[in-house]
Amino acid sequence: MQSWPPLRAELRGVEPYGAPQLEVPVCLNVNENPYPPSPAVVDDIAAVVALAAKTLNRYPDREFTVLRTDLAAYLSRDAGFPVGPEQVWAANGSNEVMLQILQAFGGPGRTVISFAPTYSMYPEYARDAMTTWVAGRRHEDFSFDLDEARRLVEEHQPTVILLPSPNNPTGTALPLEVIGELCRLLDQSGAFGVVVIDEAYAEFRRAGTPSALELLPEHRNLIVTRTMSKAFALAGARLGYLAAAPELCDSLRLVRLPYHLSAVTQAVASAALCHADELLGKVEELRAERDRTVEWLTAQGFEVAQSDANFVLFGRFDDREALWRQLLRRGVLIRVTGPDGWLRVSIGTAAEMTAFKEALKAVTAEVTK
Ligand code: PMP
Repeated sequence: MQSWPPLRAELRGVEPYGAPQLEVPVCLNVNENPYPPSPAVVDDIAAVVALAAKTLNRYPDREFTVLRTDLAAYLSRDAGFPVGPEQVWAANGSNEVMLQILQAFGGPGRTVISFAPTYSMYPEYARDAMTTWVAGRRHEDFSFDLDEARRLVEEHQPTVILLPSPNNPTGTALPLEVIGELCRLLDQSGAFGVVVIDEAYAEFRRAGTPSALELLPEHRNLIVTRTMSKAFALAGARLGYLAAAPELCDSLRLVRLPYHLSAVTQAVASAALCHADELLGKVEELRAERDRTVEWLTAQGFEVAQSDANFVLFGRFDDREALWRQLLRRGVLIRVTGPDGWLRVSIGTAAEMTAFKEALKAVTAEVTK
C-alpha cells in the first residue's frame, strides 16, 4: 500500500541529517574553524561578489576554470608536486563531491564499503545514490584493520571504498601503506573500484602524518577529497573539491547538475584562495589547542582517542546524552556521535576551550562517569 507523501521506501520514517543548530555561547559541535575572516578578507570577498552580481543574468562558467586553476595551485603547494586543473574537481561542499562520486561510480547493483565508526553521512550518500552500503569495523583503538578490508573487498567487490583520513569522529589518520594497499586491491579486483580518501581535516594533521595526495602519481584509482569548510574557515561558502586522475574528474561532469557552482560561490572561493595564508593562519594554534585538550582530558582520567583533526573523541560515559544536556545547560554545545559512551568536542578558541573544560569539570562532578 502506498503512503503519503509517496516517499521511496528507504526514506520513510527517516529523520533529516543534521547536528542541532542552537544559539549558544560556546559552539563546539560541527568542527568549524572558530575564527571568522578578517576585515581585509571580508572586503575582498564583498568586492568580488559585487563584480559577480553585475553578470548574474548569465549562467556561470560551468567548468569553473578560474577556480579549478586556483585550487590546483593551492593543492600543488600541499602535495609538493604540480597538480593540474584537469586533476581537480569541485562542488558545493565535499558532501556534494562525494555524492557525485557515488552517482558516477556507485549505483544500483554496486557496493561502497567503509569502516565504522565513521562519518554518519556516508550511508546517506550510498542510499541517495542507490548503492549498497557495507560497513566493516575498525580495531578497538579505531586504527584500520587491513585484514578486515581484504576480506570485505574479496567478498563484495566494491566499486568505491570511502574512508576519511583523519577519520570523523575518532580523529584517526590512515598510514600511506594502507591507502596504497587498498588502491592495489581494487585495481586487481574484478570491479576496478576507486579509493576515496576524504581529507576534510587534513590540514590539522600532526607533524609526520602524511597526506594521501603523495600517492596520487602512483595510483590511477585514488581520489583525495578536501574542503574549504574546516581549516580554511569557509564553511558558509560551501566549497569542497578533490584531486584525482583527469579521467575520473571528467566522469563527474556526467552527473553534476548544470552550472552546479554558482558565480557567487566561484568568486568567493577564488577570493578566499588568494588569502590562503591568512585563512589558514590559525591552524597551528588550533592544532596546539587540540593537543592540549587531548592531554587535559587524559589527565582528567577520560579515555581519549588520539587526534589528527580539529576535534577530540572522549569517554566513556554511562549516559552520554545526560552529560551532553548538562554541558548545554552551561552554554557549551558539543556532539553526541561515535560509539556508545563517547562524545566529540570540536576545537575552539582558547577561551571557548577553557569554558568547555570548566563546564565538563562541573558536570562530571554531578554525573557518574
Ligand atoms: N567529510 C567529513 C569527514 C566531514 O566531517 C564533513 C563535515 N562534517 C564533510 C566531509 C563535509 O563537509 P563539507 O560538505 O562542508 O565540505
